[in-house]
Amino acid sequence: MIKKILSVFTIGISIITAAIAQEHQVSPDNDVMKLTFLGTGAPRPSTERYGPSIYVEAGDHKLLVDAGPGMRERLFEAGGFEAISGVDHVLVTHLHFDHTVSISSAWLSGWLFGRRVPLRIQGPAGIKSMMDNIKYAYQWDVDYRVMVGVPKEGTELIVDEVSDGVIFNQGGLKITAFQVEHMPIDIPSGKLLGLRGETLGFRIDYKGHSVLFSGDTRSTEKSEINNVGEGVDLLIHEVQVPSPGATPEANLANVSLSVHSTPEQVGHVFAKTKPKMAVYSHIIPPGTTAAELERDTKPYYDGPLTVAHDMMEIILAGDDIIIGERERQSDGKFEDSKVLEEK
Ligand SMILES: [Zn+2]
Ligand SMILES: [Zn+2]
Repeated sequence: MIKKILSVFTIGISIITAAIAQEHQVSPDNDVMKLTFLGTGAPRPSTERYGPSIYVEAGDHKLLVDAGPGMRERLFEAGGFEAISGVDHVLVTHLHFDHTVSISSAWLSGWLFGRRVPLRIQGPAGIKSMMDNIKYAYQWDVDYRVMVGVPKEGTELIVDEVSDGVIFNQGGLKITAFQVEHMPIDIPSGKLLGLRGETLGFRIDYKGHSVLFSGDTRSTEKSEINNVGEGVDLLIHEVQVPSPGATPEANLANVSLSVHSTPEQVGHVFAKTKPKMAVYSHIIPPGTTAAELERDTKPYYDGPLTVAHDMMEIILAGDDIIIGERERQSDGKFEDSKVLEEK
């Protein structure tokens, strides 16, 4: 399998060859952790940056962090029917639609194309109610398909409302949730407006690798990310660049600066936590270029930085961080996929 490798960051050993890197990528069952950025945008529609969703593969664990618009299509591109049916766990940072609109796809497409185990969903307060309503909305669809012969196994949902602390610890995969600042505030006073619920970030540890997902947040000095993210391999942070001008559109776009982070704010977080690789994803507005983000971050953080794009892949293998493109695998027909034989 030939893969395009954009860059290899080596920590601990001095030289790594492309051959060694490829060996890491094709090892199925070792300590490799692989991330594929299915969507690196936010609510604003973009054909370049789909809604936020990151596919995480760690040994037998296949999970999504958020399931934004376009997740199903990008996941299919990333791994065909095997990936669609293989995801059995979704972490939801918060209930905004750009992070949740494809949960129903993760549930129903996964089931229809081969998942025969329940889908586990972990998210903040309110996720139970959201999933109850999604289940209710698609009851007719599920009943219909079961009636015509699709096995019922795999339609079950395991929904956990979680808050701070370790929320999953199985098979070498440890997931820690923490609160981030993304609840609506009164801009002049900075006081919370009192909406119920929470917004979360996650840290995933797997066999010595560590990845932090900021969720949506306005990172300040008080941010829990400064503690939980210290020294992680990858710190994936959202970012918003202020829109210039004073048109109604620019003003509306800039309203959300009260709950998102500018490159300056994120730069401080990166500088404090010193990840082996800092990564931008959930990029607002979607047309922001890597060069702009690098320029705006540099005065505050001068370490390793990657601006993610859709279908970028980051592999953590041994001491190496390998950044490349996910190979597209979605051409096959379901009939040829052998997904069901493997179950
Ligand atoms: Zn968002
Ligand atoms: Zn949000």
